[in-house]
Amino acid sequence: MPNSEQFSGNKCTIAIDGPAGSGKSTVARKLADRLGYTYIDTGAMYRAVAYRALQAGLDVESDATEIAALAGCLHFEFRNVGNEQHLLTNDEDVEEAIRRPEVGNLSSAVSAIPEMREHLVAVQRQMAAQGGVVMEGRDIGTVVLPQAEVKIFLTASVQERARRRQQQLREKGIQRDLDEILREQQQRDERDRTRSVAPLRVAPDARQVVTDNMTEDEVVDLLERIVRQAEQYME
Ligand code: C5P
Repeated sequence: MPNSEQFSGNKCTIAIDGPAGSGKSTVARKLADRLGYTYIDTGAMYRAVAYRALQAGLDVESDATEIAALAGCLHFEFRNVGNEQHLLTNDEDVEEAIRRPEVGNLSSAVSAIPEMREHLVAVQRQMAAQGGVVMEGRDIGTVVLPQAEVKIFLTASVQERARRRQQQLREKGIQRDLDEILREQQQRDERDRTRSVAPLRVAPDARQVVTDNMTEDEVVDLLERIVRQAEQYME
């Protein structure tokens, strides 16, 4: 597990949800570092299942049962490698593979399989059981950790989200056309919002933060203030 610390009594559980490109991952990671909490990127886990399904030649439409079974056989481990967090499945570092665009696109189709989600949600709840976690995804505040003390829904305009994604990819040496990213992102959002199981939606008790005109550090500062306040109410 990443950033494992000794958990004191007043660490809370933080759920951060939002659409693709809302800046969740970077913000959640930085927030966890500042607080000394464990950061858990649940999207990486869905991507890993998609990657393994692709490797196994499974088809989302016709092989849903096999994909769910495959997810049940995976052991997930997050490990710090330099300044990055890598996901390992069954001891193999899949970090590079799961960030490829084709795996990202497949992951949103794969993640609509209900039995597969059950496996991942169970693992995620186990990872969060000790508290002191920042867990980030689409259904964390609504399904995985509905009891989380702090729930944040991060979002930004579609253009801004596509621009950020393009920049992220550029930093990894991948050049992508903005319109193409925009189209893929919209398709992914649409699928995530309209699927029957655990659709992307704002938990009624979540605080919505629109990040268009905020720097990353401003968002992290705001979230840190919200968490510090919540920690005061913990035993
Ligand atoms: O966050 P990221 O873009 O890496 O997530 C990849 C895909 O995994 C998303 O498009 C979404 O369909 C799925 N996902 C999910 N539930 C989560 C996290 C991610 O369905 N908690």
